[in-house]
Amino acid sequence: MSKIIAVNAGSSSLKFQLFEMDDESVITSGVIERIGLDESIFTVKYNGEKIQKKLPIPTHKEAVQLLLNTLIEHNIVSSLDEIKGVGHRVVQGGAYFNESAIINDDVVSKIEELKSLAPLHNPAHLTGYYAFKEAIPSAGAVAVFDTAFHQTLEPRCYIYPIPYKFYTDYKIRKYGAHGTSHYYVSHRVIEKLGNPEESRVIVAHLGAGGSLTAVKNGKSINTSMGFTPLAGIVMGTRSGDLDPSIIDYLIEEIGMDIKDVISMLNKESGLLGVSGVSSDFRDVIEAAQAGHERAQLAIDIYFRRIIAYIGRYFIALGGCDAIAFTAGIGENSAYARKEIIGLVSEALGIVIDDDANENGEGERLITKPESKIKVYVIPTNEELVIARDTKRLLNL
Ligand code: ADP
Repeated sequence: MSKIIAVNAGSSSLKFQLFEMDDESVITSGVIERIGLDESIFTVKYNGEKIQKKLPIPTHKEAVQLLLNTLIEHNIVSSLDEIKGVGHRVVQGGAYFNESAIINDDVVSKIEELKSLAPLHNPAHLTGYYAFKEAIPSAGAVAVFDTAFHQTLEPRCYIYPIPYKFYTDYKIRKYGAHGTSHYYVSHRVIEKLGNPEESRVIVAHLGAGGSLTAVKNGKSINTSMGFTPLAGIVMGTRSGDLDPSIIDYLIEEIGMDIKDVISMLNKESGLLGVSGVSSDFRDVIEAAQAGHERAQLAIDIYFRRIIAYIGRYFIALGGCDAIAFTAGIGENSAYARKEIIGLVSEALGIVIDDDANENGEGERLITKPESKIKVYVIPTNEELVIARDTKRLLNL
């Protein structure tokens, strides 16, 4: 029996899933939110039950301790030694990592070095790593990078057309994100296609953050996020692609501070910025259905930015065998899927199966047999990829 915990440590949160790797079942999962604030919230799901506690949790160290104590108290594990491996999600692996890595001093210093590219995330991942290392010294630790899957992009896709020295001297290039999700979903699709030698898949990861990836023969060839996750499609609060001159204009003509501009583009834009209603897709739809024009406009822009990437990737891949929807919106909103597919169906010969789209559950095909491209819903499972990589690299 080998148990592995998949961890996603954010700046003020820590999400976890404990796996029994013999059958890849999830023994327990949960999240600790608002770490460092007055009232932290600890939620754990076990045996179909949800336990929630509110209490002050000053740092990640106490968060990990509380989580591990809970596992013991509820007999989820009889001793912490049962946890043989800890897999950590790491947002930015730069050009150093094209796959997951056992965490050692060298890996730590690279994650540390890359914090300028992910200032909120990479330091938080290391805090999580240290907290688990101290609490379970016997467990091995593996870093699973969100950028690794996109390391197969060719220079013509990752180099920005600005003076080349900014790439060589400052490492400015496209790195992409959500790679673990794009990897998992595209590979599930390839299995569903019968593991053909050649395959062309477009994955639409549509959550609060969102990105599309073109996957050729199992490898990422292009992705919509860029140097940072601000690029690409419209997101809950992020603008996605825009003309960089807007930034200069806001500073020179309106007198905004650069930090405020970047914060506005990351936190006040996207669905929230246009609609003025919410960053949450459900709220924006509800408002649009009630006649809120800007909510409808936000949704229209959102869908159009997505289909623009579907079109680009269709051409880049030389055609397409399957499109897959995943993450909060992609998995749960039949409306979003129908509208997006509706906008490309004539051009691409896609015939949606309304019944499967609206009434089915979980992983499924949502197009009719005559459709030229198959469209799937694939619930993402980044934690499972993290746990599998941890098991493989630690030889458990
Ligand atoms: P994150 O990027 O934080 O992981 P998620 O993948 O959880 O985000 O996606 C969150 C988004 O999914 C929100 O905009 C939310 O409104 C949307 N969402 C979740 N469930 C539904 C649903 N049933 N219908 C429409 N949108 C949904």
